[in-house]
Amino acid sequence: MYVPLEKTRNIGIIAHIDAGKTTTTERVLYYTGKSHKIGEVHEGTATMDWMVQEQERGITITSAATTCFWRNHRINIIDTPGHVDFTVEVERSLRVLDGAVGVFDGVAGVEPQSETVWRQADKYKVPRLAFVNKMDRIGANFPRCVEQMITRLHAKPVALQIPMGVEDKHTGVIDLVTMKGHLFKDETLGAEFETIPIPAEFEEDAKVWREKMMETLSESDDAFMEAYLGGKEITKEEILKVIRKGTIHFKHTPVLCGAAFKNKGVQQLLDGVVDYLPSPLDIPPVKGKKMNGEKAVELLRKADVKEPFSALAFKITSDPFVGQLTYLRIYSGKVDSGMTMLNSTRGKKERIGRILLMHANKREEIDSATAGEIVAAVGLKNAMTGDTFCDPEHPILLESITFPEPVMQIAIEPKTKADQEKMGDALYKLSQEDPSFRVKTDEETGQTLISGMGELHLEIIVDRMLREFKVDANIGKPQVAYRETITKKVKSEGKYIRQTGGRGQYGHVFLEIEPNEKGKGFEFESAIKGGSIPKEYIKPVEKGIEEAMENGILAGYPMVDIKVRLIDGSYHDVDSSEMAFKIAGSIGFKEGTKKASPIVLEPIMKAEVVVPEEYMSNVIGDLNSRRAKILGLEPRIGTQVIAALVPLSEMFGYSTDLRSNTQGRASFTMEFDHYSPVPAQLAEEIVSKYRDGGAAPRN
Ligand code: GDP
Repeated sequence: MYVPLEKTRNIGIIAHIDAGKTTTTERVLYYTGKSHKIGEVHEGTATMDWMVQEQERGITITSAATTCFWRNHRINIIDTPGHVDFTVEVERSLRVLDGAVGVFDGVAGVEPQSETVWRQADKYKVPRLAFVNKMDRIGANFPRCVEQMITRLHAKPVALQIPMGVEDKHTGVIDLVTMKGHLFKDETLGAEFETIPIPAEFEEDAKVWREKMMETLSESDDAFMEAYLGGKEITKEEILKVIRKGTIHFKHTPVLCGAAFKNKGVQQLLDGVVDYLPSPLDIPPVKGKKMNGEKAVELLRKADVKEPFSALAFKITSDPFVGQLTYLRIYSGKVDSGMTMLNSTRGKKERIGRILLMHANKREEIDSATAGEIVAAVGLKNAMTGDTFCDPEHPILLESITFPEPVMQIAIEPKTKADQEKMGDALYKLSQEDPSFRVKTDEETGQTLISGMGELHLEIIVDRMLREFKVDANIGKPQVAYRETITKKVKSEGKYIRQTGGRGQYGHVFLEIEPNEKGKGFEFESAIKGGSIPKEYIKPVEKGIEEAMENGILAGYPMVDIKVRLIDGSYHDVDSSEMAFKIAGSIGFKEGTKKASPIVLEPIMKAEVVVPEEYMSNVIGDLNSRRAKILGLEPRIGTQVIAALVPLSEMFGYSTDLRSNTQGRASFTMEFDHYSPVPAQLAEEIVSKYRDGGAAPRN
C-alpha cells in the first residue's frame, strides 16, 4: 500500500522497565488490526518480545521494527530496549526514528531510568509524546506525574487529556481539546468507546486543565497567544496545529493518559501519534560525507524519492526462516529488489534480494521501498550493523552508530569438539548483529574470550549462544579487559632454526621495537636493504608480530600502541619458508617486549552521575574511594550532574551502591574514555594472578 511521506511515522516507544511499554505496543498492534489476539506480557506471548531471554527477564533488548496502519497513516514502530546497560541499543534505535512515545507508570511516576532514556532522546533531538499509563492502578496520580515531568525531566508538559476517574473508577479519558469524554466499553476489550459530554463530576477539573493547556500552548506560539488572549473563538484544527508544531520544535510535550492493560486510551494515543509526531518530512535532512581523494565533503540527503538512494542498516537479526535480516532505514531515494547497492562503509557492492515489510505476526514481500520507510532486506551477506547502503553512482557515507570500546571480557570453553565448531558459527552470526563485541583465542590456554561493553551485554551474548545456537560450554566470570603496552625502545633478535636431516626450518630477524603514540595502535615498517631477507618473507614477519600482540607477555592481554621496524636478518636457500619467518617474527617480538618495560593498561570510563543535591557529598565521597577523578559539577534544577573519570575495575556493582546511597534517586551512565597505566600494586596483582593461572583469560 502506497503511503505518502507526510502520512508516515517512524516512532519508538521508550519507557522505564515495567511502565507498560510492551502492553502498550501490544494494544497498538491489536487496534491497528495487525495482531489478532491480545498477548499478555505475563503469559509470555507478547508479539514483540520474541526472544526467550526477553520473556524470562521481562525486558526488551532488541529493536525489531513493526509496521502498522492507523487513519491511513503508516506507523513503523521501532522497538527500543528499556534497560540502561543497553544504551547502545537505545541509541541505535533513537538514531533512526523520527518521534517517540514516552510511557510512564502513573503510580510510580517518573523513575530514574525514565530520566536516562529521556535525556538520550533529548540528545538525539527526538520529538515526543508522553503517555501516563496504569490509571486503573491503586495510587495512580496523573497530576503528580505531569509535575514530575517538569521537576525531573525539565520538560514542558502540556496535558491534552485527564483521566475520567482513577483506580477502580477509571472508565476512560477526558479530551481537553474537544472537551468531551471517551467512555470505554469493557465487554469489547476497549475496541469500542462512546464519546459523551463531560460528566458533571469532572466538569470543574476539566475546565482548569483546559485553561492550563491553552496557556502553555500560547507560550509556544505568538499568534495563538494573541487569539487566545483576545478572546477569539479558536477551532479544534487550530489547536491541533499549534500542538503539532510545538511538539516537533521542542516547545512542549503533549501528555495523554489511560490504562493500556485495561484497553483504555490506546486509540487516542494512536491519534496523538498521527496528529502530533513528525513525518520524515518534518525532520532535518540526514547528514553524510563523501570522500574526495583524501578530503571528506559533507553531503545532505532529503527525505525525497527523487534524491539518490541512501539507507542505514540499524539492526541485523538471524531469522530461522529466511536467514539473515538486515533492517534498513531508508533516508532518501528508492530501492527495488534485485538492485545492486553500494555498501559504502565496506566499499563493497551487494545485491539486495527480497525486501520485507515486517508486521507483528507476518512479513509481507514488497518490490521496492522508498525514502522514510523501514524495511528488512534478505540476503545482504556482508552487512554489519551501522553500515550505509547507497546508490553506487552517488556514494555517501552516513554518520554511523558509534560503538564503544569493549571493556569487559568473559572466557568460554566449549565442552566438545562439536561445540567448538558450533560456537565459531554462533559467534560470527552474533557479531554481525552486534559489532560491539569481539572474539579472540588465548594462545596458551586455548580458551575463547569474548569482550563487550558491560556485564549484562556479555551475559546476553553468552545466553543466546547457549540457547539459540545450542553450544554447550563452561563460562567464566566477567572481568575487566585490560591491555598491555611497552615503555622503552629495544632491539631484539628472533631466530627459528630447525635442522633435522631433510628439509628444515630457517627464519631469522632483527627488530627494533618502541612505544607508539597513544591510540595509534600497531605500526610496522621494513628497513631491509640488500636482500638479507627476501621480499616474500617480510609480510609473514609482520603477521607473526601482529598475532603475538594479541596475547601480551605480562598477563595475556592484547598489546596496543607499539611500533616495530624490521632492520636485518638472514635466510637459507632451502630451509626458509613463510611459516619460519612468521615464527621468527613472533619470537623476536616476544623476546623484545620482555625487555621493553611492559606495563598493564586499564580502561578508564567517563561517568556521568545525575544526583539530587542532598545526596551529592555521599556520591562524591564514594566516587573518590573508587579512584575517580572528578571533572566537574553542573547544576540542573534540583540536581547536580557529576562528571568523572573512573577506572572500570572499580565500578563493579556501582549501580547497586548508587541506588542504596541515594534511595534510587540518582542515575548514571558511563562510556569508555581511554586506557591508562594501572597503579603498580594492582599491576602486580594482575600479573601474579595470571601466572597462577587465575587471571581473566583462565578463570
Ligand atoms: P514494560 O516492561 O514497560 O514492557 O512493561 P509491561 O508492558 O511488561 O508491563 C509491566 C506490568 O505492568 C505487566 O504485568 C502488565 O500487565 C502491567 N501493566 C501494564 N499496563 C498496565 C495498565 O495500564 N494497568 C495495569 N493495572 N497494569 C498494567
